Amino acid sequence: MVQDSFIVRCGRCGAKNRIPRSRAKERAVCGKCRAPIHFTAEYPERSVQVDERTFGAEVLKFPGAVLALFWAPWCGHCMRLLPLIDELAMEYRGTVKFTKIDMDKSPGLASQYQVMSVPTMIVFKNGQLVNRLVGALPKDQITQHLRPFL
Ligand SMILES: [Zn+2]
Repeated sequence: MVQDSFIVRCGRCGAKNRIPRSRAKERAVCGKCRAPIHFTAEYPERSVQVDERTFGAEVLKFPGAVLALFWAPWCGHCMRLLPLIDELAMEYRGTVKFTKIDMDKSPGLASQYQVMSVPTMIVFKNGQLVNRLVGALPKDQITQHLRPFL
């Protein structure tokens, strides 16, 4: 099921704004304070590739919930999960950010977060690890785990 709109929080006053999906490419302003809303930079419509160099800025410093998928190119389950993560990035744009980390290219992150197997999804909120999902879960189970952060 695809949502026809998404919620974006205003960076100036914090008000929640509902943006129709059909107008996602247009310039939006906050309904309360009229500040321009820049949601494409903060909540991209696809998952963001993250590595050890960008992890701090993209994940830990992000002011909200971020799902980080640890994956590897040799992992079949991961390959099926990657397009799903992109789908979720579009559906949850404005509420949850989706990132992916190639474990082979970022072994330091994998060991820091004790990722023993792929796929593993770790949810961060304001830089804190808040949940860990191991295995290729179906979409409805992933969204269930995201519900507390919406
Ligand atoms: Zn505002």
